[in-house]
Amino acid sequence: MNFVTHLECANCGKHYDATLVHGLCVECQRPLWVRYDLDALGKKFSKKDLPGRPPTMWRYLEMLPVNDPAKIVSLTETVTPVVTAQRLGSSLGVKNLFIKDESRLPTGSFKARGMTMAITKANEFGIRRVAAPTAGNAGGAMAAYAARAGMESYVFMPQDTPAINVKECWLAGAKTFRVNGLINDCGRIVGEGKVKMNWFDLSTLKEPYRIEGKKTMGLELAEQFDWELPDVILYPTGGGTGLIGMWKAFAELEQLGWLKSPHKPRMISCQSDGCAPIATAFAKGERFAAKFENAATIASGVRVPVAVGDFMILDAVRASAGCAVAVPEETIAPWMKKAISLEGLAICPETAVCFGALEMLLARGDILPHERIVVFNTGAAQKYPEAVHEKIPLLDISKPIDWNKI
Ligand SMILES: *Cc1c(COP(=O)(O)O)cnc(C)c1O
Ligand SMILES: [Zn+2]
Repeated sequence: MNFVTHLECANCGKHYDATLVHGLCVECQRPLWVRYDLDALGKKFSKKDLPGRPPTMWRYLEMLPVNDPAKIVSLTETVTPVVTAQRLGSSLGVKNLFIKDESRLPTGSFKARGMTMAITKANEFGIRRVAAPTAGNAGGAMAAYAARAGMESYVFMPQDTPAINVKECWLAGAKTFRVNGLINDCGRIVGEGKVKMNWFDLSTLKEPYRIEGKKTMGLELAEQFDWELPDVILYPTGGGTGLIGMWKAFAELEQLGWLKSPHKPRMISCQSDGCAPIATAFAKGERFAAKFENAATIASGVRVPVAVGDFMILDAVRASAGCAVAVPEETIAPWMKKAISLEGLAICPETAVCFGALEMLLARGDILPHERIVVFNTGAAQKYPEAVHEKIPLLDISKPIDWNKI
């Protein structure tokens, strides 16, 4: 039993029966929202129920589309901490900077939230074979949860995806392929294989449930801020499920009457100028984003030149009075080093993009120094050895140490 009433196309509004397996809307090929009976939900579940529950994302079970808790496929998706970033904050001239550290989730990125939910639903539906294109971490997460569920998984990733992502998929038993193209080319292969290989397509937003898992970032954040949401959220944007999911969480919490004030954060969608389709569409005032040609960035999680949920990202950003921005690719590696050396947190290159954006928006006056600012660290820096090029000195122990060089 759950409180899901139906699925609803985010673009044309067509309704779908949530007891059946669905991908994109068959009318317009756009993503489906999961809709709940929030009145009924609110009568059975209140924020007073939360304190005694285990500190995992499943503490919000009633707000998730699970039919049968026995079918949940989990690796223990811990509630991630909100860490204060005083030293980094003061270097930027802000007083209330927080980092929600998603790197602590299984497989080292927030992709775990979406995949635990999507694989759980696939498991409920009796699906035994799944596939996904990936820029990196989604593949690792899918492979891990598929292994946990005893499902077969197939991963297709761009040739130059970070080596760790390729290897983690292989280690978890996924049939792993590198492709001499970008994530959209990998997506085409997964789409074509649906008939030939009879697999279920777990691509970002091409099934309705990953977004529900990502929604728990917003639920956790609200609870951690004692139901008074922060002023600004900076989020690195690839396919957009993180940003869209959080915005959905805030809307549902508001409807349930759990928020202490109607004040919602401005959502800042952050991209590298090496791949900035959403920032480009935002600047042009458009609702749908054109494909970004020659996409290239070391922040592999945001190397997504075409996003099927582009309008959902842009709608959320605009509704929140936020913005979508692109920062110079060359600033990513220095920001990674600066953030990690100031705070000791393993900030991934995607999140380094957010710090570049924060600096830019502070300079523009679009973010103010006293505001409560949350940056999401979406993954662990340890997964990106390729992003660091510094030559580390080697000491030759066959000679006396030259202490002048230490
Ligand atoms: C996938 C990914 C992103 C982008 O997330 P979306 O929700 O797809 O926009 C950002 N950071 C990391 C580390 C990722 O793996
Ligand atoms: Zn539709």
